[in-house]
Amino acid sequence: MSNEIWGYQPTNQRPAPDWEINPQTAAVRAGLARSGFGETSEALYLNSGFTYSSAQEAFDAFADETDHYLYSRFHNPTVQMFEKRLAAIEGAEYCVATGSGMSAMFASVACLVKAGDHVVASAAMFSSCHVVLTEILPKWGVTVELVKGNDSTVWAAALSKPTKVVFIESPSNPLMEIVDIRMVSDLAHKVGATVIVDNVMASPVLQKPLELGADVVMYSATKHIDGQGRVLAGAVLGSFSYIHEHLIPFNRHTGPSLSPFNAWVLLKSLETMEMRVQRMCENAHAIAEFLETRKEIKSVKYPGLKSHPDYVTVQKQMTGGGSTIGIEFAGSQKDAFAFMDALRIIDISNNLGDSKSLITHPSSTTHRRLAPDVQAEMGITPSVLRLSVGLEHVDDLIKDLTQAFKS
Ligand SMILES: *Cc1c(COP(=O)(O)O)cnc(C)c1O
Repeated sequence: MSNEIWGYQPTNQRPAPDWEINPQTAAVRAGLARSGFGETSEALYLNSGFTYSSAQEAFDAFADETDHYLYSRFHNPTVQMFEKRLAAIEGAEYCVATGSGMSAMFASVACLVKAGDHVVASAAMFSSCHVVLTEILPKWGVTVELVKGNDSTVWAAALSKPTKVVFIESPSNPLMEIVDIRMVSDLAHKVGATVIVDNVMASPVLQKPLELGADVVMYSATKHIDGQGRVLAGAVLGSFSYIHEHLIPFNRHTGPSLSPFNAWVLLKSLETMEMRVQRMCENAHAIAEFLETRKEIKSVKYPGLKSHPDYVTVQKQMTGGGSTIGIEFAGSQKDAFAFMDALRIIDISNNLGDSKSLITHPSSTTHRRLAPDVQAEMGITPSVLRLSVGLEHVDDLIKDLTQAFKS
């Protein structure tokens, strides 16, 4: 572990470990920059600006000759601790935090493309990402093609022409469709594309897109990274050159910065993320198996089940099935609503990746913005529900689902 990532600790001058630390150790230690007070936990630098001891010091700092902080829109000590810690967990050279998952998604693509460029994306995705790719970027002269399915011949056909960016969401929200990240990255690199993966549904714990050949990973840190329903945040991770040549110049001037307060909340969240995600994943797996036995359910979409159509790809690229289950109800929207209303523990909410279990009706909420034919194309019918499994005891969650089925 380099001193740079391990962090600066003026009251503790012991050297950083000279071995590769594990992600669990990075999650509680990496990036820590203690002040002269030697505080145990990360300090919260809730300030917008910084001062200089002389005009010359400000000159040198703005000329990039020194490491002095300039302004919290560019960087801030608390935000930087979060960025370094998440980069160490992900195994990325560099991380830039943003104010929401959508600002991370938008910046990750917009910093690369110009009028006349072509983008290829997997068709099943979160609705706001769909709007950015199919409505906003085309207004600026960027062409976008969506690819359905996980067939290498379909992807090879789409990637037979020069392409600037390939954008993949896997698993997809809400129906947990899977894209073979290695297969698509290999095809994309042949036509010179940068591969960006929206890794929100897997979280940094269950899937490492950079190890699978992708170039850039983006997160809504609102989901599992915070995982406790408190803050909105996002992050983009990639190589030093992608971040410094493309993302930072774009973000510095467009301003999607993360609040230091939110970064401080997230630093503490990262310390428990692995334990939380593993437990949520165990709970979700048990609930997905339970749901498969129920006659009220037409189909269960969960990457950890052998019944998932891409189970073989899941085994290659994920270490768990995730915390979210796509459910198709055997019945109408009215039956699905009655089921949701009968739940006593699981909340009706459009968030996911939270310690509280949450259920959503995507076609009328999270994915409402998409036209009915686009929803149908993604398999989001009025009978589809999305269950985000949290940290409650799994027996209580199964009892809650069972009593709601009865009513
Ligand atoms: C929630 C979500 C986003 C957007 O994140 P926000 O933090 O809500 O802006 C992007 N992609 C996926 C897959 C999501 O679930």
